[in-house]
Amino acid sequence: MLQKICFILLLCLPVVAADRPNILFIMSDDHTSQAVGVYGSRLAKLNPTPTIDSLAKEGVIMKNAFCTNAICTPSRAAIMTGQYNHVNGVYDLGGTLPMDQQYLAIEMKKAGYNTAMIGKWHLKKEPNYDYYKVLPGQGKYHNPTFKEKGKGAWGKNVVQMQGHSSDCITESTIEWFETKREKDKPFFLMHHYKAPHDMFENAKRYDSYLEDVEIPEPENLWSQPKFGSIATRGHKGGLDKYIGTSIGRRHEYRNYTKNNGPWIKPEGVDEMNDVEAKRAAYQLYLKRYLRCVKGVDDNLAKLFAYLKKEGLYDNTVIVYTGDQGFMLGEHDYMDKRWMYEEAQRMPFIVRYPKGIKAGSVSDTIIENVDFAPMLLDYAGVKTPNYMQGKSFRNIIESGVEPESWKKGAYYRYWMHLAHHWNPGHFGIRTKHFKLIFYYGVDYKEKGQFQTPPAWEFYDLRKDPNENVNQYDNPEYKSVISQLKEDLRKKREEIQDTDDKFPQIKAVVDEFWDYDEADRAKAIELAKEAEKNGLKPIRHRKKK
Ligand code: CA
Repeated sequence: MLQKICFILLLCLPVVAADRPNILFIMSDDHTSQAVGVYGSRLAKLNPTPTIDSLAKEGVIMKNAFCTNAICTPSRAAIMTGQYNHVNGVYDLGGTLPMDQQYLAIEMKKAGYNTAMIGKWHLKKEPNYDYYKVLPGQGKYHNPTFKEKGKGAWGKNVVQMQGHSSDCITESTIEWFETKREKDKPFFLMHHYKAPHDMFENAKRYDSYLEDVEIPEPENLWSQPKFGSIATRGHKGGLDKYIGTSIGRRHEYRNYTKNNGPWIKPEGVDEMNDVEAKRAAYQLYLKRYLRCVKGVDDNLAKLFAYLKKEGLYDNTVIVYTGDQGFMLGEHDYMDKRWMYEEAQRMPFIVRYPKGIKAGSVSDTIIENVDFAPMLLDYAGVKTPNYMQGKSFRNIIESGVEPESWKKGAYYRYWMHLAHHWNPGHFGIRTKHFKLIFYYGVDYKEKGQFQTPPAWEFYDLRKDPNENVNQYDNPEYKSVISQLKEDLRKKREEIQDTDDKFPQIKAVVDEFWDYDEADRAKAIELAKEAEKNGLKPIRHRKKK
């Protein structure tokens, strides 16, 4: 009898345990896959992330995880709601997510999880968690203040910490484990670093990290004659100096060789020629960025050591990601926002030894709207109907991608020409190809569009760095028309059809087929934009 009971218990125990693991969602800000060792970029040889790499090697690396809008607040809103930005309403940096729309946190709590949010939040409204301690807005790198639950009304509940933000956030999380966690429940913890967001301020102890190292340059920092389109470069390169802020001196208003606003200017750069100046700016940009990354990685080593000591490391689903990618000099671009690989891709790693085989690598396409459904799946919650994403838990556990799984990731950037002069665009990215449509008009402005519309198409099998726009290559004619059709269907399926934005809809309809008349008109618009110089545009806050 006893034997029989033991046998039944043995059968049941792992099921019960696997049913309700703890969930730790770790996200850094702007930490791009090129700066994560296991993603194997040119920077991997610098060994930027040994801790994150160990996590990845014991779990699964998602090679094709994409954000639907490569900018902080909208990406966070997509993760929190499981919805694209035109549905959750967070189009840009001015967007907010009210408490009753913080679905992931709400569903976790409903499922009996003890919920906490610590670090960078950036969704403006009070976080709907059992506990929170969040940076106000972007937060500060040094001696940051936080808003902490239990310290008064939202906005007045400010506490001050001393030290670097990455250290303070880790310390706060360990303190939550020690003194605040409800130990009779599984936990759902979001642990979010501010680093390595610009302006890249590292903790003092990293000042000399990589000091004497020459950071490898991407080839397309220098030359890319077939990259882009009239939308991104103008007619015969006439908009090169106005579209997409740069590492070198290319961009007229904002580049990393200029002491422009809070940017750091490399020493002696004014006396350098263009090549020397770009080289120096690149080294400085990368070193400052990677010093912040190193701070994150070391802090995670500390956090993981704590989890191991407490016996929490193996019964917790641990996710590591960044809220979007980042351009580290590829195409001579800085910042994010683009649909190009470096900005669109998110690092995404999951470790959970009870369900995921160590050393797994997946090329399944996932989008940030799928994160909430996947996390909820681990909590035993069926994806709510209002979420547009789908759980990929089965895929990462079985290694098998079902035939019905999505074939492409949708992307859309709304903030036309804001901050870094990126034209409004949308597109689709499949395992092999990428099709981008730059419609070039703001969603809030009425009237004329300001930049020439154009399509770009990249064959990622032959050209993973997207150096050759093949939109006009007749060899790809049928592939491109199929992709356009897929893009049209995807937009209908997720209801991103611009019915609310007639000024965009008109451009999309007019330039969809991109016939000779459209091309001629794009040239006129490019010349006009060049003449006007695309003066700095201050993006208006959402009313
Ligand atoms: Ca970000």
